[in-house]
Amino acid sequence: MSQHHHYTWPRLPDVHHRVACHFCDTLHEVDLIEEGRAAHCQECGSVLYRNRPSSLQRAVAFGVTALSLFVLLMWFPFISMNAQGNLSEVSVPGAVLGLWMRGGQFIAISIAMFVIILPLLMLLSLLYLCVPLLFGRTWPASNMVMKIFQGFHAWVMVEVFFLGAIVSLLKLVKLAEIQLGIGFWSAGGLMICLAGAVAGIDRTELWDRLDAANSLRKEAK
Ligand SMILES: [Zn+2]
Repeated sequence: MSQHHHYTWPRLPDVHHRVACHFCDTLHEVDLIEEGRAAHCQECGSVLYRNRPSSLQRAVAFGVTALSLFVLLMWFPFISMNAQGNLSEVSVPGAVLGLWMRGGQFIAISIAMFVIILPLLMLLSLLYLCVPLLFGRTWPASNMVMKIFQGFHAWVMVEVFFLGAIVSLLKLVKLAEIQLGIGFWSAGGLMICLAGAVAGIDRTELWDRLDAANSLRKEAK
């Protein structure tokens, strides 16, 4: 009986990463693990990193879907309301602009930040890293982009603020009849796909893949 072990993600033999446990800060040497497995902390047992099956494909698939939903969110009305017989539609960029003009700068900036800028930056940086890696390559400045991407470590917070911004957006309109538009449903889908894209690949794996692809690039020169 033959057993297949998949250690799919590439790494350089001379590079050793260390990873600290999120809970107890114990340092561990990163070893390549089998696909579908997770490495656990030797002190407290919490998960250090995972080798997810077809990680790049999953991250890219969720990422591209999220990007399409983002376009829908920007383009289509978030809500439409009926005030005194007048139907008016509000999109997210329209709401930001309207709030800014009417003196609600703080909430305008918050909504722009957590519904537009942060999700987009996160998404673009992930795709910028993962799409060329599908072909074993990297695009320029990938290490810098990776550091930016890692800066979104507080992803859960972005998620919470995203929800908060959506709720405050809805609270702004207590008028008449409100109907949820395509933009609203896109926002929900975007949140799920964004979480799927980010969870699709482990940061430790991403660093190893970048190192391996970057060294190939240097050799080719
Ligand atoms: Zn630990």
